[in-house]
Amino acid sequence: MNRIDLHTHSTASDGSNPPGKLPFMAKEAGLSAIALTDHDTVAGLEPFLSACNEAEIEGVAGIEISSRWHFPGEVHVLGYFMNPKDRDFRKRLEFLQNARSDRNGEMIRKLQSLGIDITLEEWQQEAGGEIVGRPHLARLLIEKGVCRDMREAFGRFIGTDGIAFVPKEKLTTVEAVRFIREFSAAPVLAHPGLLKLDTATLRDFLLELKDNGLAGVECIHSDHDEKTTIKLLELAVRLQLAPTGGSDFHGTPKPHVRLGVPEVPGSYLDGLKASLSGRAEETF
Ligand code: AMP
Ligand code: ZN
Ligand code: FE
Ligand code: FE
Repeated sequence: MNRIDLHTHSTASDGSNPPGKLPFMAKEAGLSAIALTDHDTVAGLEPFLSACNEAEIEGVAGIEISSRWHFPGEVHVLGYFMNPKDRDFRKRLEFLQNARSDRNGEMIRKLQSLGIDITLEEWQQEAGGEIVGRPHLARLLIEKGVCRDMREAFGRFIGTDGIAFVPKEKLTTVEAVRFIREFSAAPVLAHPGLLKLDTATLRDFLLELKDNGLAGVECIHSDHDEKTTIKLLELAVRLQLAPTGGSDFHGTPKPHVRLGVPEVPGSYLDGLKASLSGRAEETF
């Protein structure tokens, strides 16, 4: 069986491996295709796709967009097969990037007002890529000796209940799905198991997203147990959505997650491609 991984992160967002290295690691792991799905950015896609050519592995252009819906927490929407060079697509992503830098500035001001010696430049330097996120800030707070570990950094300061937390403006999930579709890409609901919704609520949510162009559901994911995976696969078939899967590999920020684990069959990529050309029903 061909094995693939449709959910990975690089240094362009919060992963620890450069986008040009991931294809070689995937080849080494015996995979036949890999998608790069960095948070809110396509900055890593060009080096990633050329490395895929070099490594002789199928590369899939992807993204993972954080969105908001009526329940607590973030809803992540994956997008596949966009053109990474599309200037309009990049332009629209700037909205998300601006929302992030506004939020980051406010968080730094809050930390400074608590008497912590920290600057936005230090945070950007710690991140090193286009996306400057809270995991990088947590690392910086640990390096500075302000916190002992990630748990304390998020718990006390920068998690949703932390004293320096500032929420960032986001698209709604429907807007994120439509945005991806608008650029002829395939929107997929990421790791629905993490949303902790009951089956009926999840089904209604998926139906509403499907009405707005959703192409697939991420059934296989490193945070899904077997029961969740089976339930999601059944739901995908019932709603005629393409099942997808990936590890959500980040490298050192998520040391327990390995590239290509859990196993995802290569046929899922064919199903996702077919969903774009409107022939999804024929494939499963
Ligand atoms: P940001 O996009 O900058 O708001 O950062 C979001 C990222 O922070 C998530 O993708 C997680 O990787 C991480 N994160 C959020 N909450 C926690 C937490 N309580 N503990 C550890 N990591 C977290
Ligand atoms: Zn991440
Ligand atoms: Fe996610
Ligand atoms: Fe992810």
